[in-house]
Amino acid sequence: MMKALQYRRVGRAPEVVEIPKPEPGPGQVLVKVTAAGLCHSDLAVMGWPEDQFPYALPMTLGHEGVGTVAALGAGVTGVSEGEAVAVYGPWGCGGCHSCAEGKENCCPHAAGLGILPPGLGSPGALAEYVLVDSPRHLVPLHGLDPLQAAPLTDAGLTPYHAIRRSLPKLLPGSTAVVIGVGGLGHLAVQLLRALSPARVVALDVSKEKLGLAAEMGAHETLLSDGEAAARIRELTGGTGAEVVLDFVGAGTTLAVAAASVAVAGDVTVVGLGGGTLAVGFGGGLPFEVSACFPYWGSRTELMEVLELARQGHVSCHVEIFTLEQAPEAYERLHAGEINGRAVVLPHA
Ligand SMILES: [Zn+2]
Ligand SMILES: [Zn+2]
Repeated sequence: MMKALQYRRVGRAPEVVEIPKPEPGPGQVLVKVTAAGLCHSDLAVMGWPEDQFPYALPMTLGHEGVGTVAALGAGVTGVSEGEAVAVYGPWGCGGCHSCAEGKENCCPHAAGLGILPPGLGSPGALAEYVLVDSPRHLVPLHGLDPLQAAPLTDAGLTPYHAIRRSLPKLLPGSTAVVIGVGGLGHLAVQLLRALSPARVVALDVSKEKLGLAAEMGAHETLLSDGEAAARIRELTGGTGAEVVLDFVGAGTTLAVAAASVAVAGDVTVVGLGGGTLAVGFGGGLPFEVSACFPYWGSRTELMEVLELARQGHVSCHVEIFTLEQAPEAYERLHAGEINGRAVVLPHA
């Protein structure tokens, strides 16, 4: 048996329960979880109404996991027991053009084949052990601290993927705006500093989170209020920001994004805040703006993010919890009281 944090009934808080320890079937790998991150998108999932809930319950949560290889299913090669690994979450079919390129986050077949990410349909990493469907979905840590590596599998990978598409616009003299300095946003600030010479402006409604953004290298920090877009215009001599990354995705923050992006800039909506952006004539965006709603990142991008962390360019601000404390950690995350990322150590 093993302990796991499960979302068991729609509308109820998640619970720590004892469930059978899984055994790896052919091609699968059992990973002993050393650290797993808590994500805002879990709160979004747990907020969905029963008639729209897409996954079978009970469901073990946790889509940010790292651990050590505990057992190999029949036929598995390329990994060995005891190896420290990060779990790549957006599992694809493995055989299509996207998957062959490592872009399993864009696999067009996964959903139809019932292939679901750990913690988002498949049993997740907020447990003592997690079953990984293929060794292809494991990336070696090569000495990286598991506490650091766990959040990087989503809170690092997702902004990295979002920023990479905009790198041609992040030139000396350019401005990048990060809206929302939570788990993803505080890593986005560091990734922008590591990958580009652009000036980084961070927005949040919390002064404490703006303090974290400044610590992480933001050049300017602004309270996200009715004045924010005008302040960004002022800071950029009236032209606006070349790249705006919205890690909240609410109607109010998307309005700030639309009002502060420059002509021919990028607006990238990462947060699941439920807002939408109108694209088209009269929609409010300047001409030539490219809007994108990215999903997670590719396998090679996860390797790159872990490498950036090993080189010391990014480090996650973490608050540590035991599995028993995880329900309380979700409550604090919901209340906006987690600075950086909440990380659970299931064997602590
Ligand atoms: Zn997430
Ligand atoms: Zn595929």
